[in-house]
Amino acid sequence: MQAKYLVVNCFEIGQQGVNIRGLYPTAFLLSHDCVPNTNHTDEEKNYKLTIRASTKIPLGYPITLSYAYTLQSTLKRREHLLDNKFFECHCRRCSDPMELGTYTSAVICPKCKTGLVLCDNPLDTESPWSCNDTTGKCPGYRIQARSMKLLLHRISQEVEQIDMNDVKTMEMFLSKYRNVLHPTHYLCLGVKVSLSQLYGKINGYLIYELTNETLERKRDICLEILRVLDVIEPGYTRIRGVTLYEVHAPMMILLTKDMEYGSFSKNEIKARLKEVLKYLIEASIILGYEPENSPEGLMGKAANEALVQIKDWEKIVGKFR
Ligand SMILES: [Zn+2]
Ligand SMILES: [Zn+2]
Repeated sequence: MQAKYLVVNCFEIGQQGVNIRGLYPTAFLLSHDCVPNTNHTDEEKNYKLTIRASTKIPLGYPITLSYAYTLQSTLKRREHLLDNKFFECHCRRCSDPMELGTYTSAVICPKCKTGLVLCDNPLDTESPWSCNDTTGKCPGYRIQARSMKLLLHRISQEVEQIDMNDVKTMEMFLSKYRNVLHPTHYLCLGVKVSLSQLYGKINGYLIYELTNETLERKRDICLEILRVLDVIEPGYTRIRGVTLYEVHAPMMILLTKDMEYGSFSKNEIKARLKEVLKYLIEASIILGYEPENSPEGLMGKAANEALVQIKDWEKIVGKFR
């Protein structure tokens, strides 16, 4: 068997320890899409690979998965696919400079400060990028592919230097580039995904130590990530499950605090509880598919426990479901 064939068709499995390439007799038939409609889980113990639909797949539609990391820009994903899978992706997401409205490649225009600099033709790696302003506010801004790549390379290097447990430096990075990168640019998103999980988990930022401001920050970051994931990792996907679980904690604590200090009507409280419940139920369903003792599987168990606790609220505020 040729090495190229193996690289193209194998799955990389066993992320916790050594990376192994596994060739699966049916899974390798799935085609690629940068917005996949399946999700896969591999079990470290027995190398079992489970592929399941993450969205409803209409009859006759291709069953797809992504061979590239979905939380990356078109430029990065296409580069990875060409280097590792030897094809040029022309999917709906890759063809759209706005990446289906997620703006994961968008840079803020340095001239007008409000327009977004997008690639003129994302299917051509040499294409220039220009400001999308249509109001006439921008005198016009254009940048060559080479210069854009250099700028992104420089910022990526800065991200790589950040210790991914260092909350302060991550927040400083986001603040430093708030006028350069779109808030959901993939370089910001990567940092935000880390922050969404660190707030509430690490020393100095344990969930019950967080100030209201930080709880709101965690909640808002999670909701921002979810808006992007709803488009590029839609349905029952692992990262959506994790983020839905992460968003419930700050929302619940803020609700408890507001009830203690504020004067909220029962209806307002019920509406907020209903929202938390919606996130938690979906998190529990999604994470329920993960291997029992994996971090995601354990998170699923915690989601179920939180669901039981939330039922107690009905004794205080009455039925809200
Ligand atoms: Zn694509
Ligand atoms: Zn502009």
